Amino acid sequence: MTKSQKKKWVAIQPDQQALLRELPGVDYLLNLVTRQAFADNIPHAVVVKAIRGVIESRRQQILASSPTSGYDRISDSQMIASVKQSIHQAMTPNLRRTINATGIVVHTNLGRSLLASEVIDHLVTIASRYSNLEYDLVAGRRGSRYSSVEELICEISGAEAALVVNNNAGAVLLSLETLARDKQVIVSRGELVEIGGSFRVPDVMAKSGGILKEIGTTNRTHLSDYANAIGPQTGLLLKVHTSNYSVVGFTAEVSLRELVDLGAAHQLPVMEDLGSGTFIDFSKYGLLKEPTVQDSVNAGTDVITFSGDKLLGGPQAGIIVGKKKIIDAIKSNPITRALRIDKLTLTALEGTLRLYRDEQRAIRLIPTLRMIMLPLAEIRKRAQGLADRLKQIGGARLHIQLLKRASKTGGGALPLMELPSLCIGLQVDGQSPNTLEKMMRTNDPPIIGRIEDDMFVMDPRTIQKDEYPTIETAFENRIMKA
Ligand SMILES: *Cc1c(COP(=O)(O)O)cnc(C)c1O
Repeated sequence: MTKSQKKKWVAIQPDQQALLRELPGVDYLLNLVTRQAFADNIPHAVVVKAIRGVIESRRQQILASSPTSGYDRISDSQMIASVKQSIHQAMTPNLRRTINATGIVVHTNLGRSLLASEVIDHLVTIASRYSNLEYDLVAGRRGSRYSSVEELICEISGAEAALVVNNNAGAVLLSLETLARDKQVIVSRGELVEIGGSFRVPDVMAKSGGILKEIGTTNRTHLSDYANAIGPQTGLLLKVHTSNYSVVGFTAEVSLRELVDLGAAHQLPVMEDLGSGTFIDFSKYGLLKEPTVQDSVNAGTDVITFSGDKLLGGPQAGIIVGKKKIIDAIKSNPITRALRIDKLTLTALEGTLRLYRDEQRAIRLIPTLRMIMLPLAEIRKRAQGLADRLKQIGGARLHIQLLKRASKTGGGALPLMELPSLCIGLQVDGQSPNTLEKMMRTNDPPIIGRIEDDMFVMDPRTIQKDEYPTIETAFENRIMKA
């Protein structure tokens, strides 16, 4: 035994020994627990594991106790209550619904986009029945699983060809690997970004086998920087949409069209990683302009990649559109097979894309778009309604303010776009804002808001219409009755 171990060693006190001796055995508790209704239909292994865990944590608790903290006895029924709680936890799926009261619409930590209910119905059918996933019903033989969704993407974007993979990170990797393996890829220094969740342009480039050639400066890059960098090793000109930050002030960037012209003059393909990617021009609706997929296609870009579950409001997917010759080359890359989407993603993506054939319908039915476009008057109505009902529940102990704040689109989209909103700020006498936040977060379902200026703050923009009663009940039971 080393010196330091000796130092930590503390003699077990006689009282502790007595408590340890009294610890019930697994069989004893098992006998008691299996007679309880809550243990009905729970797998034996789950019950035994829960009992072992509870006995062990009780043992640790006894060993950690001291004459000052006291040596409390605990009864069989307290042990059984702990086992019940542990079983409940073990039987609850880890992935659970939450209520997003953050006001961040495409919230990466909370599941990004919600699917339209029109899409869900069909998803359930396809998930629970056989389908024509890879079967051509007209010809009566094997068919392509992607053809219908690819046609839709081309119809909406105006692109010659399209391909869908697992996510946009995969789309970028695959495109670079196909077009630029062992060749130089010219990128502006200001576009070598890191996107949340550890997607870094230089790292993805390295993994694809492309050789990064940085040009320009952080704030200014000119067409001549690209032109001067082109040499015999060059394989691709790349533009990356700097989704999550913006350089303001003394800046210069080369337009996509200029880059396409330069590429054409040197017979080099041009690729754009749009990141979020949207089919809708938000500036038409009084919001900031976010480059659309159609803009990029119209500029003549050879390959364009974007996400399915950011501004598009569909399932996680990476969409690649562009010139047919290039998309065909990407399709025949063996990596494509490793990045392919499953039938549930395909169903959800096709359903979402179908809604885009009518822009007003898409805005009405796709939750991500609906929340981004939610009028301030409607948010005010919802905030006021919730505030009034909480006031009834909370009485004099509750202090509510309506706060002018900005919601965010999130998901690395529209970095500067702030959506004017009206949030609810709560304070309860005798409860710290941290306690309020924790009580709401540990509710079932969890309600996720934020702490700001000593208040618990909720933004109605991302709270779904049918979730208000749940928030009221949580507030009443977990906070006011606590
Ligand atoms: C979000 C983003 C990615 C990664 O997309 P995923 O769909 O999350 O894989 C890549 N590039 C840009 C510019 C992005 O904004």
